[in-house]
Amino acid sequence: MEQEILTLQSSAKELLASVEDTAQLEEFRIRYLGRKGQFSSLMKGLAKVSKEDKPRLGQMANSAKKEMEALFVVKQQTLAATNNTTASHGTLDLTLPGRRPEKGKLHPVTQIMNEVCSIFESLGFSVAEGPDVEHDHYNFEALNIPAHHPARDMHDTFYISDSILLRTHTSPMQARIMETQQPPLRVIAPGKVYRCDSDITHTPMFHQVEGFLVDRDVSFADLKGVLTVFTQKMFKKDLPLRFRPSFFPFTEPSAEVDIACVICEGKGCRVCKKTGWLEILGAGMIDPEVFKMVGYNPEKYSGFAFGLGIERIAMLKYGIDDIRLYYENDLRFLSQF
Ligand SMILES: [Zn+2]
Repeated sequence: MEQEILTLQSSAKELLASVEDTAQLEEFRIRYLGRKGQFSSLMKGLAKVSKEDKPRLGQMANSAKKEMEALFVVKQQTLAATNNTTASHGTLDLTLPGRRPEKGKLHPVTQIMNEVCSIFESLGFSVAEGPDVEHDHYNFEALNIPAHHPARDMHDTFYISDSILLRTHTSPMQARIMETQQPPLRVIAPGKVYRCDSDITHTPMFHQVEGFLVDRDVSFADLKGVLTVFTQKMFKKDLPLRFRPSFFPFTEPSAEVDIACVICEGKGCRVCKKTGWLEILGAGMIDPEVFKMVGYNPEKYSGFAFGLGIERIAMLKYGIDDIRLYYENDLRFLSQF
């Protein structure tokens, strides 16, 4: 029995000396010091020794176990100390390439907005910006949409007070500019507009570009010419345009303008719902009533106006069918543009 204790003690010391990490240390603990470990079975073995030998052997086994437990604690502390040092200094590999900071870029809607503006600027239009919070007067009255006009129902307006609202289109800039400047005018007004509407093709805030030209002898052919050049430059293709009669209170005559589908070029596909055409903007000749309200003589001047949705153009240009993707701020989507 005495020999057994000594052998166990020396084999335990040997193994503990070879321990290099916490996993090995735990293995050691289970094997020697655990409840089912070798020192426990040694203690159980003491039951079989003779009465005279029991106290001496018992004490010997006990002190052997205590010594191993003390050595175990020392080893545990040594390992913990080395781990801390390697964690803070040891694993730093200075030869690894650094992490590049992510580069920000313009939102796809802003990119299209800038592109639209630069196309019209190349055609001689100047850029004007107006307030998002607008007077009822400029948003409706000055555009030939008096109170109780049925056209107001089309706008789903966010009112702030009876006479102040979030502009529902960028057209108020027509009135604001004509009020203060004399023809000839060639202006585009880009900006945010707001409507109480939200689904796969509508968001409560979206972007429009309003454009108008006022001069002597401006005709519908001029409108068609400007829009043709715009769509050619925007979609980098010579796509035919189609004008469908429509109604806007501030233009007469008015038209919805379609372009041949940018995806199938008129053959018919899912995006154009097999029609071969895509609606792209609304336009028309400025109504003489609008001229009268800003003090222009409609006998002397004529002009055209158009309004296009930037998100709509972005959806067509990139083949995106859900407008909400632009505003969910998912970088996986936005970084593609
Ligand atoms: Zn198509």
